[in-house]
Amino acid sequence: MALLKTLGINGRRLNQSIDDLAQIGQLENGGIRRLAFSTEDLQGRELVRRWMVEAGLSVCIDTAGNLIGRRPGRIKAAAIATGSHIDTVPCGGKFDGNLGVLAGIEVARTLQENDITLDHPFEVIVFADEEDTMIGSRAMAGTASLDAAGYHRKDGRPMDACIDGAGGNWEELSLSARTRDDICAFVELHVEQGGILETAQKQIGVVQGIVGMQRYQIHIKGRPNHAGTTPMDYRQDALVAAAQVVLTVNRLGKRPPGHQVATVGALQVWPNADNIVPGQVQCSLDVRDLNQDVINDLINDFKEELILIARETGTTIELVPQLDVAPSPAADHIQSIIAEVSDRFGLSHMPMPSRAGHDALEMGRFTDMGMIFVPSEGGFSHSEVEYTTPEECVNGANVLLETVLRLDRYYQ
Ligand SMILES: [Zn+2]
Repeated sequence: MALLKTLGINGRRLNQSIDDLAQIGQLENGGIRRLAFSTEDLQGRELVRRWMVEAGLSVCIDTAGNLIGRRPGRIKAAAIATGSHIDTVPCGGKFDGNLGVLAGIEVARTLQENDITLDHPFEVIVFADEEDTMIGSRAMAGTASLDAAGYHRKDGRPMDACIDGAGGNWEELSLSARTRDDICAFVELHVEQGGILETAQKQIGVVQGIVGMQRYQIHIKGRPNHAGTTPMDYRQDALVAAAQVVLTVNRLGKRPPGHQVATVGALQVWPNADNIVPGQVQCSLDVRDLNQDVINDLINDFKEELILIARETGTTIELVPQLDVAPSPAADHIQSIIAEVSDRFGLSHMPMPSRAGHDALEMGRFTDMGMIFVPSEGGFSHSEVEYTTPEECVNGANVLLETVLRLDRYYQ
């Protein structure tokens, strides 16, 4: 049997690319400010475009402003794609998103210099505006709203002008939608942005999926009254009801066997005065889990508890839906391949959900999706102290490369 030489990416070159891209939009504190569609973002995209061309990719920008580099395959088939984003939060790190894009380009460079043509076309995608609206991946998944006025970007710039300025075409946004016939698998390498891998001392996170989320407003109505003259038995205290609501949410979030999270993060009290029994409270509810059934069960049980709390406190409680994002599970076979590839490289790994949103969430709506996580030192991200070691970046990129090669053989 012939001994197969293991293909590997050029780690020095990958880390140099990470440092070079980080020069664009670098702040004095070392953080990166490359807001989507800003001058810095467009400069960064231009540099990445040049690297794509040098890596032998043919480059285009779709109508949503996604920058796509493509290496042709041997057969007429759907592409195997990777990618992420290079836009940042107002003071972000140089790894969030950037690592996934630059590792994808490094995979393309490696294929090019080893003269390897995959059966399937291979794509590296820089998604437009991940941090604010996720317009790029949503348009690709066909889930973006076509109403430009419906997007309220944090910088206030109109969405259609932003997309057109990045080389897209807002009027034709729907043309950027892809299907499983265009892309048979999408794999994104990303820094974990949390401290689970570091704590568990694992090198690779095999992402099981991206959690779904439901958000509600809870309206509690009691009766405002004099805090001195109203006996305790006669009160309809909305804040007392709210206190029970908060504790109930926390108890449901902690109940076994899931890893669901449930949070009341905002609370307003009326009339909010020292000497008045609170008449009204409005608070928030945020529930997340990888499993839609777990979210639904939690909400149903919560509704039953609300009836009891309302009865006991003499209040009325209304649950008003605000946001419902379904979980996006990773394909089982991609998870298995990432785990096998990690073993092959002697890298320790563990399965884990992604509790942050990523472009892969939308890609998973229409095709097989997988994500590779590498550790974030101290669990920090969206911050200038975000750090992943050069070795861990190389580990992630090598796992990405080998995963792409195996997926090329998987889809036959
Ligand atoms: Zn990101």
